[in-house]
Amino acid sequence: MDFAPYIRDIKDFPKPGVVFKDITPLLKDPKAFQKAGEALVGLTANLKIDKVVGVDSRGFIFAPMLAEKIGAGFVTVRKSGKLPFETISESYDLEYGTGTLEIHADAIEKGDRVLIHDDVLATGGTAQAVCKLVEKLGGEVVQCNFLIELTFLKGAEKIKGYPKETLLQY
Ligand code: 5GP
Repeated sequence: MDFAPYIRDIKDFPKPGVVFKDITPLLKDPKAFQKAGEALVGLTANLKIDKVVGVDSRGFIFAPMLAEKIGAGFVTVRKSGKLPFETISESYDLEYGTGTLEIHADAIEKGDRVLIHDDVLATGGTAQAVCKLVEKLGGEVVQCNFLIELTFLKGAEKIKGYPKETLLQY
């Protein structure tokens, strides 16, 4: 199935000059939503994953389904201040200032094989920070998995040490 017709460009969101890829038309279409989930599962074939890490917040749409389908646990990485238990954190550069992501200190066991999922790979700062969090806890990043990669932003370079899979590239 071609998913591109279900991804909408929103000009000047969240600020002037940015063209935002809006995935909500894909999510609201029953067939496209189901097929996109199946296609994401297909990208993970035979990887033997212990934990799927979903990234706050659009990573939470498909990551739990991926975890359930491949028999892995589901772990959340969240923006700072949202997780209730002891956390470790990683800061990364945004266009203006920095962002901080957190994970529960007991979310990953040493040696866990981990798949990271988010909706979009843009500049790669988010995915790189998530990889660092997983590794700080002793996990092995087996795949970084995205619905969409914005190749012109060169995010792949930030995570070039890790296998990457995406359904759609722009
Ligand atoms: P990065 O750190 O790679 O620059 O940005 C990736 C993060 O920002 C992801 O968590 C993603 O949800 C969000 N993001 C950045 N650009 C877009 C976009 O065009 N569309 C969507 N849906 N999310 C985006």
